[in-house]
Amino acid sequence: MTTDLTRLTADALATKLSTGEVSSVEATQAHLDRIAAVDGSVHAFLHVASDSALAEAADIDRRRAAGEELHPLAGVPIAIKDVIVTKGMPTTSGSKILEGWVPPYDATVMTKLRAAGLVSIGKTNMDEFAMGSSTEHSAYGPTHNPWDLERIPGGSGGGSAAAVAAFEAPFALGSDTGGSIRQPAHVTGTVGLKPTYGGVSRYGAIALASSLDQIGPVSRTVLDSALLHDVIGGHDPRDSTSLTDAWPSFAEAVRNADVAGLRIGVITELQGDGFQPGVMERFREALALLEGAGAIITEVGLPSVEHAIAAYYLIMPAEASSNLAKFDSVRFGLRVNPKGGGTVEDVMSATREQGFGAEAKRRIILGTYALSAGYYDAYYGSAQKVRTLVQRDFAAAFANADVLVSPTAPTTAFKLGEKTGDPLSMYLNDIATIPANLAGIPGISVPVGLAAEDGLPVGIQFLAPAREDARLYGVAAALEALLEQKWGHTLLSQAPDLSPSEMNATDEGAV
Ligand code: GLN
Repeated sequence: MTTDLTRLTADALATKLSTGEVSSVEATQAHLDRIAAVDGSVHAFLHVASDSALAEAADIDRRRAAGEELHPLAGVPIAIKDVIVTKGMPTTSGSKILEGWVPPYDATVMTKLRAAGLVSIGKTNMDEFAMGSSTEHSAYGPTHNPWDLERIPGGSGGGSAAAVAAFEAPFALGSDTGGSIRQPAHVTGTVGLKPTYGGVSRYGAIALASSLDQIGPVSRTVLDSALLHDVIGGHDPRDSTSLTDAWPSFAEAVRNADVAGLRIGVITELQGDGFQPGVMERFREALALLEGAGAIITEVGLPSVEHAIAAYYLIMPAEASSNLAKFDSVRFGLRVNPKGGGTVEDVMSATREQGFGAEAKRRIILGTYALSAGYYDAYYGSAQKVRTLVQRDFAAAFANADVLVSPTAPTTAFKLGEKTGDPLSMYLNDIATIPANLAGIPGISVPVGLAAEDGLPVGIQFLAPAREDARLYGVAAALEALLEQKWGHTLLSQAPDLSPSEMNATDEGAV
């Protein structure tokens, strides 16, 4: 029996490629076939790049056959969140205003992926301009959670997380402004890491809120995230906020994982009220496992966390309103000419009216208001003060703990449509992830099992001080190993198969 190549981790697939047991064309084709079979139901992809992916794969196979020394991940397929600008491949950021735009350049992370020989198989669905926690704000329809197709896959990067959870790609790139890598990982049983702010270049990532955005990896194992992070991280002169640090190998941090003596601080404010009992149960079990392996569990307070969402929903829309001003019908993307003609302003206004969805408009209005003369100090200024308090709270907490920990989100995946009419309750879902973005620190979500009441995945979130991403990979890998030892299998091996025979006949091969 041949191995199903889509079930392999990126690391395992890379080994088979390097020994010549499998070709990149075979691996790429297997994933394209899987996409064709299940993506009609999951809708993780906005664009499947079959031709260019197979051509890239063939090129890697040729170079390998010619004896060229290749990067260990060369020939492994990867999915790309549509917020990332890709030369020659449509990039919409989930918005109608960019429909049909094919960028003339690559984001730095793409340049790095190409240099390492990774094969981009397509662009994944997302909330419009990365605004949302469910992918329901995509202008192209929602993505469905592979664990239960009636549920959200998280957001804004639901497409990348669902693609990885549904075995359509071994790993993917995401972006995280307030949790868009970690919360989708939590609800899909995958691993997602938001790097330290400045650790991965933002050049060519369509900006939502520039002081909060970070690109990072989404995968099925901690090692795969680390391997991908090692490729995309590092200084980029094209991003003025990019750190010049020499980063350690994150894959090494995974391989040397050890929690003996590690001080883990449980965040007091991120448990209890509002957190689903089944989420808390898996969370506490995971802590007990870590304690059994020698970690020291303490409790730490982050009192300003209760104001973090309010501060975020002033700072993020303020920056978004400015970043989205460039979609003006003149430079690129959609242009709508009002009936009977009009001035340049009329054209801009008609284009933005038609091109932006309701959530984007809501945030542009909120942000413009928060920055307006007379209100600037009261809103934006106060929010920046809260941001400083959050940073101070973290600094104090890290004096007593090496890493902090909380559930990644208060609940498991909610039902599609459940929160679309209630933006505030959608915003509250990010209570545990937003503080890290305000502080610029790294965070990782790792699956810890299924909630008893609904059988849906639960993630645990670890946070570390800025620049200590390697510490997160260590603790996450240790926990992953402990859990797999306990279960005797990986969590995602328990996910529904989604094989075409089980699916609705009308959905088959819709891609
Ligand atoms: N859900 C959050 C928001 O709506 C975070 C989004 C993100 O990280 N891009 O802003």
